[in-house]
Amino acid sequence: MGLESFFNPRSVAIVGASRQEGKVGYEILANMIAAGYKGQIFPVNPKAEEIEGLKCYASLESIPDAPELVLIVVPAKMVPAVMQECAKVGSKAVVIITAGFKEVGEEGRALERQVIQAARQAGIRVIGPNCLGLIVPANHLNASFGGDLPASGGIAYLSQSGALLAAILDTANANGIGFSKLVSIGNKADVDEQDVMEAVADDAQTKVIAGYLESITDGNAFVREAERISHIKPILLMKSGGTQAGAEAASSHTGSLAGSEVAYESAFERAGIIRCDSIKQQFDYAQAFANQPLPAGSRVAVITNAGGPGIMAADAIEREGLTFAKLDEGTVKKLAEKLPAAANLHNPIDVLGDALADRYEFALDVVMDDSGVDAVLVLLTPQAMTEAAATAEAIVKVAGQRPGKPVLSCFLGAAKVRDGVGILRKGGIPQYDSPESAIDTIDAMTRYVQWRSRPKRVVRLFPVNRRRVENIVERHLRHGILDIGEAESKDILEAYGFVTPKGSIATTADQAANIAQQLGYPVVLKIWSPDILHKSDVGGVKVGLTSEQEVRDAFDLMIYRIPKKKPDAHILGVLVQEMCRKGKEVILGMHRDPHFGPLMMFGMGGIMVEVLKDVAFYLAPLTAQEAKQMLVSTKTYKILQGVRGDEGVDIERIAEGLQRLSQLVTEFPQIKEMDINPYVVGSPGTTPIAVDARISLEQ
Ligand code: ADP
Ligand code: MG
Repeated sequence: MGLESFFNPRSVAIVGASRQEGKVGYEILANMIAAGYKGQIFPVNPKAEEIEGLKCYASLESIPDAPELVLIVVPAKMVPAVMQECAKVGSKAVVIITAGFKEVGEEGRALERQVIQAARQAGIRVIGPNCLGLIVPANHLNASFGGDLPASGGIAYLSQSGALLAAILDTANANGIGFSKLVSIGNKADVDEQDVMEAVADDAQTKVIAGYLESITDGNAFVREAERISHIKPILLMKSGGTQAGAEAASSHTGSLAGSEVAYESAFERAGIIRCDSIKQQFDYAQAFANQPLPAGSRVAVITNAGGPGIMAADAIEREGLTFAKLDEGTVKKLAEKLPAAANLHNPIDVLGDALADRYEFALDVVMDDSGVDAVLVLLTPQAMTEAAATAEAIVKVAGQRPGKPVLSCFLGAAKVRDGVGILRKGGIPQYDSPESAIDTIDAMTRYVQWRSRPKRVVRLFPVNRRRVENIVERHLRHGILDIGEAESKDILEAYGFVTPKGSIATTADQAANIAQQLGYPVVLKIWSPDILHKSDVGGVKVGLTSEQEVRDAFDLMIYRIPKKKPDAHILGVLVQEMCRKGKEVILGMHRDPHFGPLMMFGMGGIMVEVLKDVAFYLAPLTAQEAKQMLVSTKTYKILQGVRGDEGVDIERIAEGLQRLSQLVTEFPQIKEMDINPYVVGSPGTTPIAVDARISLEQ
């Protein structure tokens, strides 16, 4: 069942309705009545005859007609009994406002489980518990204690925090911002973010989906579904719990553990979700997405009556990587016909401080017709002659006549522009308090357009030897060994098309010399022990050995010295390995995120990773573009490309390595973590070598 019974119920019962002002059971009833709900309202309270003029019922069963939606506000311990009643009378949609469940600990968690189990058995869907309720302005439904019914509009809002929703409602009401639906999902014991998003995705009134989340119930399903919905309408999310401190606060708040930050970042990017850092930014974006068409490109024109703000806007355009539109000659000529001689006819178009509404109207009209302009920002500062209200009307009018191109406004000031701002808002022109936030919004719209026009994701599948890996992985797990050693890690990598250095294990200096002879000099010696993870840290790697004598010396030294440094380490021998061609060292890695699955990593080797933390992450499975994008997004990408006469390395081959690794970890969920460090890459056309690898498993 969808959520229709929640959004558009025939009748609503409030179990726990109260006569006492200030109590939730009263506020909800009062809000329901004040909103002008057209259906029937049934207050349920055995101790009252009537509340606010409505007949009161002793129980759900005593209501003559089963209510379609039931709001529960009675104390937590009474909720199971009410749920039984709901099942008995056949109500299918229940909102549990009451707190005191999962968020308060083990006992509450058990109670929540019990209630949800009963609901599922009866085919009842539940929003909450521990939530603020829900609001559908178009249906005059305010089943919440969040505040007054807001205007009807194109924004659907869902929030995991009820209190935050109350703040959002208040902000929106003060600014006349309209919503299609507001849903407080609370503990999301049944209905979760994905259900709400799915429900509003097909809702014609909803132009943009916005929300605040602390956790995501099912990471993989969420990404898939959000990706589908993002193609239909934009999703703007605030996600908290990012920092360590934030994550702790989030888990004590709703009892849910927040996932790791990078995984969220890349999940959002994959799904086309536009992440917002603050309520203000989210409103900034939502207003534009809800009311304006998407820009066809990134070329922005600015119309202003003051130089300063025009320059601020121009700076912001450059900073965000947007394009400062170059006006067509015809446009400039047309502008010259009516604008005063002192006006600037080029972007930013300065209509001068004495501009009245008609001059703005003329300029906007002309600029909107320029096919080299994808979006227009109209700036206004309240100067002596400025007509803020009339100018606002002119903007609304011109934008309305040309509905194909977005127009945003930034009326700077407060008291003198208030009327104008009201007119803009009513007319669907998003209004910003600074040129920067307006430009930031255009940038968000442009990014969304770019995401939508990306080619379909195609993940390349390489021919591999899956059986070989299966054997190694299963054998390790059977014996409870979770770390795969270097030799078998290499077998695994080879099975997936990686090239690794040739070499074998020696237990005596004679053997080492023999192997070196066969490989050909120079060679590398590495200590061979399951207990030593970082070989070079204990002097367990000697590179560039060019003679038998050097090999023997290095062997003896390792066998003599390392046990002193690591007395507990079980040393199996020394690996004699061919020396790789010179190249740059990079790291390819994977860490399995508990919510979103394998998260791929790329970084430059050595200090770049350790000190600068210059790494890129992205969720597997990777497409060729995504793998490439991971490389491009690092600061050291330029070094890979080659600087100052340095030839650079084979970028495509690194991206291919990432894709192969992505395929491996996608096909083997038993691999918990792994890295190839270093992956030595040479100039274009040469084969990269996976020099060292570590793989750890989980049951
Ligand atoms: P660990 O990471 O355990 O210290 P590695 O096998 O990664 O050991 O070796 C450390 C470093 O030695 C590598 O980062 C690389 O610079 C160099 N090295 C190791 N093996 C080779 C090899 N076969 N050819 C060239 N350089 C190597
Ligand atoms: Mg290494």
